[in-house]
Amino acid sequence: MNFSTGHQHQDIRDAVAQLCQKFPGEYWRELDRELAYPKAFVDALTEAGYLSALIPEEYGGSGLPLGAAAAILEEIQLQGGNAGACHAQMYIMGALLRHGSDYQKEKFLPRIATGELRLQAFGVTEPSSGTDTTSIKTVAKRNGDHYLVNGQKVWTSRAEHSDLMLLLARTTPKKEVAKRTDGLSIFIVDMNQAKQNGMTIKPIRAMMNHSSTEVFFDDVKVPAENLIGVEGKGFRYILSGMNAERILIAAECIGDAKWFISKATNYAKERVVFGRQIGQNQGIQFPIAKAYANMRAAELIVHQAIALFEADEDCGEQANMAKMLAAEASWEAANICIQTHGGFGFAEEYDIERKFRETRLYQVAPISTNLILSYLSEHVLGLPRSY
Ligand SMILES: Cc1cc2nc3c(=O)[nH]c(=O)nc-3n(C[C@H](O)[C@H](O)[C@H](O)COP(=O)(O)OP(=O)(O)OC[C@H]3O[C@@H](n4cnc5c(N)ncnc54)[C@H](O)[C@@H]3O)c2cc1C
Repeated sequence: MNFSTGHQHQDIRDAVAQLCQKFPGEYWRELDRELAYPKAFVDALTEAGYLSALIPEEYGGSGLPLGAAAAILEEIQLQGGNAGACHAQMYIMGALLRHGSDYQKEKFLPRIATGELRLQAFGVTEPSSGTDTTSIKTVAKRNGDHYLVNGQKVWTSRAEHSDLMLLLARTTPKKEVAKRTDGLSIFIVDMNQAKQNGMTIKPIRAMMNHSSTEVFFDDVKVPAENLIGVEGKGFRYILSGMNAERILIAAECIGDAKWFISKATNYAKERVVFGRQIGQNQGIQFPIAKAYANMRAAELIVHQAIALFEADEDCGEQANMAKMLAAEASWEAANICIQTHGGFGFAEEYDIERKFRETRLYQVAPISTNLILSYLSEHVLGLPRSY
């Protein structure tokens, strides 16, 4: 199926699609079975320069606009892959780029661009605080030329496959700050050093292959020079990267939705029951058509969010709507795809059940739909804050 609508970055999409041909369904299925990391795929993407798309050229990246990064991630999903294994590398480094010192940028960004260092672990969520980020319990206490970190993160994706982690920790107790968003700081943590120094990583077996872990910090020493920006302003720095993250995940969901719609449509044309193609039944074709329309509507908002972001205009509303609508569109398409395939939708070899599990995540993480609705209610509609 050709989903092209005169997309920008068609050359990038074509090149990514070609790369993805080397990593077919069997590749992803085997990893999924073993809950193993797609190292060969991530290496290939890195070598081709796709993961450093957003790193400026002066630091060895390609300095491409957000729309190009979105096109890369969308195409991976559309080809049946799972960009969740590495997408964070694209957006986590944004905090370093925007708020890091020249020394930090020169030290880390060129090596991230070549793939020598992987910065794809993002330590925010904790078991007791959940979505209420300002209530995190992990603390970083200044002690001379370093900080001592104690606490626990949960659902930290790819911690076992990262050289660096972007860590959010409290540097001033919540009760001592005027605003609950103050007193939080972000750090670059060298994972290899930390693992020999009080950090323990425990994998979490989850519904899909996402390299999920819990990370424990027991007096982990982090050099003070790894603090990004000003101590106590970390929450703001994290928020400043949220729009890019939302837009990129939304693009992935659009890619997923297209994959499911394409699979469902092809099967509906091929499968013959009661002497005719199942796609001849409106009970089969209408849900696919509806999923297609909803995907296209979500895609328009994704494109609008990208255009605003690239024009350096406020895109909070559009980025949030894009993430929510695209995640709903991919989930609707996933459901319809299983239904269209009947029993075969559940068979591993069709890849549908794997992608179905993978795409379900995006209504919960990196931000759940309820929190997006809260954002729209409060910041767009002016309704009272609900939490
Ligand atoms: C596979 C996976 C990978 C992840 N990767 C990372 C990662 O790399 N780094 C990281 O830091 N985190 C990661 N997360 C965590 C993810 O961001 C959180 O799971 C998500 O933000 C929700 O937090 P929670 O699970 O604690 O849910 P809770 O905060 O406990 O919320 C539970 C439910 O209640 C709803 N809810 C809570 N408060 C409100 C409210 N005020 N109004 C309405 N509804 C509300 C939530 O939306 C949710 O549906 C990952 C999670 C998963 C499952």
